[in-house]
Amino acid sequence: MSKEEKRDDQLSGAEWMADLVRLVNAPGYGRWRAMVAAVGGCADPVRLVGQSMIVDAGTGEILHAYTTDGEPSGYLLVACGNRRASVCPACSQTYQADTFHLIRAGLSGGKGVPETVSTHPRAFVTLTASSFGPVHSHRDGRPCRPRNRDRLCEHGRPVGCHVRHAPQDERLGQPICPDCYDYTGAVLWQAHAGALWHRFTLAIGQELANQTGMTVCQSPQSVETDLCHSGPQQGR
Ligand SMILES: [Zn+2]
Ligand SMILES: [Zn+2]
Ligand SMILES: [Zn+2]
Repeated sequence: MSKEEKRDDQLSGAEWMADLVRLVNAPGYGRWRAMVAAVGGCADPVRLVGQSMIVDAGTGEILHAYTTDGEPSGYLLVACGNRRASVCPACSQTYQADTFHLIRAGLSGGKGVPETVSTHPRAFVTLTASSFGPVHSHRDGRPCRPRNRDRLCEHGRPVGCHVRHAPQDERLGQPICPDCYDYTGAVLWQAHAGALWHRFTLAIGQELANQTGMTVCQSPQSVETDLCHSGPQQGR
């Protein structure tokens, strides 16, 4: 919130206090505080600038309009949502806690799932999403990606990495070569992940029905597929 490009840890005690007093007394402080509280301790919130509108497709009527111009800070703070504890401890913890409760509800009931679910036979299946290119990884003291040191990609970068990355290394999860990495594919895959997942759940229902000799319409009563979507390793 400082007017200069100084980071908080570069401000002296007196400057920091003056900055805080100015902030608390500024108009719109309540809204700013609510925004900060809403990001739940995120280490690096995203500052969004722009506008959004919900328009009735039939009538063209504007049902809802929002612009960050109306925010006291001029931007909207949104939690980064990063699942890597080394990047954002708060967001990765939120994600871990959500996943834990979802899995627990699927096993023993709760959160709208009946307790009788605990008597059902169950199978844990790990599904791995597509790879869009090699990334730096933490391998418990082993080299990241051992390859012939002379082999270079078409961009002139080594195809391997012999670093034994520490768990907090900022390179973890980053592509070995950003130009080789299929960012377009990764974005498209993420954008369509909901539809892909939906089709997968339909297909698995079909397959379970086939295996148990039922029709798909009969199977939901007898075969319930509780699927829990997991993400990348938390520690990366
Ligand atoms: Zn965060
Ligand atoms: Zn590496
Ligand atoms: Zn490359």
